[in-house]
Amino acid sequence: MKEINVVVTMDCEPTTQTTHPTATGPHDWELGRRACEGYAAIVGEYGFPVTYFIHPEAAVAQAAMFKGLRDGGACLGLHMHPWKYSMWRHQGKRFMAHYGGLTEEEQRDLLRESSLLWEEALGERPTLFRPGTFSANDSVFKVLAELGFKGGSCSVPGRMMPEMRAIWTGALPDPHRASAVMRQVAGPLDFVNVPVSTDFSTLLEGRLGRRLHPDLRPDIDWESQYGVTYPSIAKNLVDQLIERKPPVPTICFITHNHYDYRDPADPATRRLRQSLAALRQACDGAGIHAAPATVESVVDAVLALPYEEEDMVLEGSIMSK
Ligand SMILES: [Zn+2]
Repeated sequence: MKEINVVVTMDCEPTTQTTHPTATGPHDWELGRRACEGYAAIVGEYGFPVTYFIHPEAAVAQAAMFKGLRDGGACLGLHMHPWKYSMWRHQGKRFMAHYGGLTEEEQRDLLRESSLLWEEALGERPTLFRPGTFSANDSVFKVLAELGFKGGSCSVPGRMMPEMRAIWTGALPDPHRASAVMRQVAGPLDFVNVPVSTDFSTLLEGRLGRRLHPDLRPDIDWESQYGVTYPSIAKNLVDQLIERKPPVPTICFITHNHYDYRDPADPATRRLRQSLAALRQACDGAGIHAAPATVESVVDAVLALPYEEEDMVLEGSIMSK
């Protein structure tokens, strides 16, 4: 393996004025702007572009900023927490759920409606998607593919948050064509899922009995909360990737638009720099080029590969088709 695609993402939430004081998201759009632009500037110092998953409210309120970021090389996709959208557009009467709690028909209606708003604001249809909290059920990829989405970043392998309808235990760790019938496995759809990269060597228990593996996000103070460091997470991610040898090797991580990445003293800014430096060092240490990539460039790379159907595994043997 000579190269790893580095995909740096941010979820751009509505402000907490229209959602809930404890929800993810900036308290006002000015902080949202500082988060988005500051993140692009720091990530850019390391030579990487940003992929922004933008909630419709943010697309409408900050259209000019996102168009500017896109002109500067950023990749844009749709982000969706149905309950936040519901409070904005439907007074909490429709779609008042986490994404994985919606029926197939509700997902279709919600994506059609919100994609139009997003398109009106940003001048193009969204073709990439990330559900809020990585909440999803088995209809997620079927509906996205039907509606013309070509990819997204919809999973955090190992995540176990049943109350948010986000269960990804056993999910594939590497970019893959998705299945129309089962969210954790590969399939023949022309839709590519790019998972957030998680360090499988450590299983952590969070609050509410949630389970998770460490990842490279700057949002969490991994060291003080869990006793793991960015250099160890980054090295483990690279080592695990070298061992798996996927066709499109990728490391993907996430943050949110409520950290002041314009402030060098903000703890999240410091952790972002630690995370990027650790990733660079882990790649250098393994003699691997950390290549700039976006969710879209990884999706296109996987779509360009021929789809190979998996052999069917019977009880203890394999049946070739
Ligand atoms: Zn979100």
